[in-house]
Amino acid sequence: MKPILELSGIYYSYHTTEGETPVLSNISFALGKGEFLAIVGPSGCGKSTLLSIIAGLLEPERGLIKFDGKYHQECPPGIGYMLQHDHLFEWRNVYQNVTLGLEIQKQLTPRSKAKAMELLKTYGLDRFKNSRPSELSGGMRQRAALIRTLVMEPDILLLDEPFSALDYQTRLTVGDDIGQILRKEHRTAILVTHDLSEAISLADRIIIMSPRPATIKQKVALTFQLEQDTPLHRRNATEFKNYFNLIWEEINNNE
Ligand code: ADP
Ligand code: MG
Repeated sequence: MKPILELSGIYYSYHTTEGETPVLSNISFALGKGEFLAIVGPSGCGKSTLLSIIAGLLEPERGLIKFDGKYHQECPPGIGYMLQHDHLFEWRNVYQNVTLGLEIQKQLTPRSKAKAMELLKTYGLDRFKNSRPSELSGGMRQRAALIRTLVMEPDILLLDEPFSALDYQTRLTVGDDIGQILRKEHRTAILVTHDLSEAISLADRIIIMSPRPATIKQKVALTFQLEQDTPLHRRNATEFKNYFNLIWEEINNNE
């Protein structure tokens, strides 16, 4: 599979008055089109920094990023960024929130409006299009935030701990739900999380990062012998426990 994104030898440090903090050290990986990659690693290791570099918000100190075979600078990818908090605006209804990005980028066309309505319908929010965000459950809000991102048709979706603000029960259902939506929409995505179970139940492949300055400790491809490869079925599969133990050991082995 031809990679949509290639990182080679990425280094990054923050410079503050206290001095230099090396955060990323020699990070290289490729992401295939349509692939769902999860990045796991301890808190503070540099996961969000890595996403900011991929999004072009930070410039790497060293290393190269290619998007669709071309250098990042000459051909910046369409990036969809989804964060921990849904950032829905209370003074706009659900439809107005979902189309906010289109409006800002002056892409509010009959076609894009129809796409927004179609996504709201497919994912059970059309009845709530005139509701305020506060009238929705946590899961529905997160779904609205995802639809707002998807409607921009990004080449790559970056998800930075998008479920961690939700309580455990909701996180399970919303995580599964959103994983299914991304598969159905054939989206290329990178999910950053410190929740191993979440990564194993959703991703095609997992990259394990070391504590700061983060290097890549291991890359694990996930394969499940399942008739229906859904997050819920994965959680109950025997492979799940094996992957969990393998990755857990890798994360906690810091010699
Ligand atoms: P993660 O997302 O894995 O928790 P981050 O990428 O947010 O980690 O941060 C990695 C390290 O860089 C942390 O130690 C953090 O304190 C530091 N850091 C993050 N942002 C800045 C900044 N703007 N200036 C200085 N240090 C930062
Ligand atoms: Mg982070």
